[in-house]
Amino acid sequence: MNDHEYLLSNIQNIKGIGKKTGQLFKRKNINTIFDLLWHLPTSKIENSKVTNIGDIQIGKLQTIKLTPLKYNFPRIRRLPNRVVCQSNDIKIDCVFFNSYEGYIKKILPLNTEIIISGKINFFRNKYQITNPTQVKESNENILEIQNKYSLTDGLTINKYNIIINEVLKELPDLDEWLNDDIKKKFNNIKWKDAILKIHSLDTKEILKSKYYKRLVFDELFAHFLLSSKIRTKIKKIKKSQKIFKDCKEKLIQDLNFKLTNDQEAAIKIINEDLKSKSRMFRLLQGDVGSGKTIVSMIAAVNCINAGYQTSYMVPTEILAKQHFSFAKKYLPKNVKIEMLTGKSKYADRKKILENLKLGKIDFLIGTHALFQKKVEYNKLGLIIIDEQHKFGVRQRKELSEKGGNNCDVLVMSATPIPRTMMMTVYGDMDLTLIKEKPKNRKKIVTYSKLEDKISEIIRFVKKEISNKNQIFWVCPLIEESKKVEQQSVVNKFKYLEKYFKNRIGLIHGSLDKDERNNILNNFLDRKLDILVSTTVIEVGIDFPNANVIVIENADKYGLSQLHQLRGRVGRGSKESYCILMFKSSLSENAKKRINILKSSDDGFIISEEDMKLRGYGDLLGFKQSGIKNFRLADPILNEDLFLLAEAEVKKLEMKGDNFSKYNKLLKLYDRASIINEIT
Ligand code: ADP
Ligand code: MG
Repeated sequence: MNDHEYLLSNIQNIKGIGKKTGQLFKRKNINTIFDLLWHLPTSKIENSKVTNIGDIQIGKLQTIKLTPLKYNFPRIRRLPNRVVCQSNDIKIDCVFFNSYEGYIKKILPLNTEIIISGKINFFRNKYQITNPTQVKESNENILEIQNKYSLTDGLTINKYNIIINEVLKELPDLDEWLNDDIKKKFNNIKWKDAILKIHSLDTKEILKSKYYKRLVFDELFAHFLLSSKIRTKIKKIKKSQKIFKDCKEKLIQDLNFKLTNDQEAAIKIINEDLKSKSRMFRLLQGDVGSGKTIVSMIAAVNCINAGYQTSYMVPTEILAKQHFSFAKKYLPKNVKIEMLTGKSKYADRKKILENLKLGKIDFLIGTHALFQKKVEYNKLGLIIIDEQHKFGVRQRKELSEKGGNNCDVLVMSATPIPRTMMMTVYGDMDLTLIKEKPKNRKKIVTYSKLEDKISEIIRFVKKEISNKNQIFWVCPLIEESKKVEQQSVVNKFKYLEKYFKNRIGLIHGSLDKDERNNILNNFLDRKLDILVSTTVIEVGIDFPNANVIVIENADKYGLSQLHQLRGRVGRGSKESYCILMFKSSLSENAKKRINILKSSDDGFIISEEDMKLRGYGDLLGFKQSGIKNFRLADPILNEDLFLLAEAEVKKLEMKGDNFSKYNKLLKLYDRASIINEIT
């Protein structure tokens, strides 16, 4: 086994880890020896020198010699295992919670003197040590300092320290992968030394140390190299150039607005991609309401005019319908458009699939159904994916492969995220931003109100309705229980129904798709004035006539989430309002957060601030994205290292480096395990 194979081998290869312990580690997602290295000590334990039992101090960490006399392993599960021991005629019990009998017998063999460290208690007239931190044979050296780790259940400090020390002792010295310039930035610290050090440094010092930073850099460097590799691989595939006359001017004629500069720029670069010899793999990122749809529709028509099919995927059926009717209304009449969703009737579906294969359909709009196995295209030239921030690198890659070599990919996302996160999550794609909002937008006026002022809110809402406007009323999402959530949203609905009679609708998570689409359509058709819902109001749907959104328990949401919810209104040119309701008066911190929201309507600024206040894990949608999988790197704390790693990879790209020098680094750090597929 070479060094890399050893590091990536099963954790059970470590001396002292059997099957049971291996499983305990697996539960914490520690599968390989390499995985174990990144679990850092949380604090230190200072053991005393060996003390005579007569001199021990109760309640303190002590080290004593003793001899086990008898095992006492009760059959009742929740009772701890005990070992009766003796030290200079004084009896002392060693008590073990969550340790196996076999293990206890091994470390505390009867009638053999051993050395033990742990906190001494005096309980029912007897000394005892619970879960000793260290157990050694009488002739072994004791460790004066031990590390405390956030332990997996069932692993004692003693056992964990034995394991990690064994791993660190056997840690191989890997060939350096960093070049001299970079190495110098981290005081020429070697990988191995860095790891040894972060396990021995004072825990308060770890995060600030160069040792730690070098390791963060390694992780980020590997990540960006991998992204770059995927990007290059996709680009390298030659496709036929798409030749077309830009449909933009004609399409825009029928709409009563002018494109923003950012929209124009996005269209231009996408056109260049379509015309180029290498494949497009581009992310179009723009805040809610920034007008991404029209940009993508222009791309679709241009691709179709070049003689290819376009496929447009959205996350929900209702959004598919909205895009479909937009396309029907505004796209040139010669474009043959169809819609395919999970709801399509069998006969329709069959017909659509046939025509698609024959090339009698140019433009297919739909949900995930578009990419099922049976769906065969005649000449697919462009895949557009809207509002998909929940796709990971791997899924994007699979999708891009499905389309075949001539197929370009355009992904659109409305989740405004700080730059460090953007480059992490979408590093495999080219990126275009739409920052500018359409000119006719008015700022959404944002208020906060205590819950007991609800009658004021109702009065306000009634006035807006009498001006022919529509209202969203968002009830809190109750994560623990669907049932409680449904009840609370139903109660609120009943309460509001008294005021709004039969002009009010309700959607929540337990409705089936048909019911919910029905209600959404009624709202869109203005048969309802007010829509009560949990946060499930679909992303991306355009409700141009809704101008008020009321959000209950607003303190339960992240700022970005509130911003996205707020973005459901204010899409037309009317004055719009967002009313944040709170149960009780706000803390200082909460006030600060709400003020950010009130003073800015720039999703990027809001998410940046949100991240600073709450940490990146909570940001909308990023729990699922895999970014949390970084072992050490943190987009807030290590922003400088993100930028450095990115710049280094760019430099290599410019030189045309094929990264072969970094293969080993990549193999070690490849979290998505896709490296084998792309090399
Ligand atoms: P998103 O980027 O969130 O997908 P949409 O594409 O749904 O935003 O656009 C939101 C609304 O803004 C739509 O009603 C759309 O017709 C309108 N819109 C798009 N571009 C412009 C523009 N340049 N000027 C005015 N309104 C626009
Ligand atoms: Mg959209």
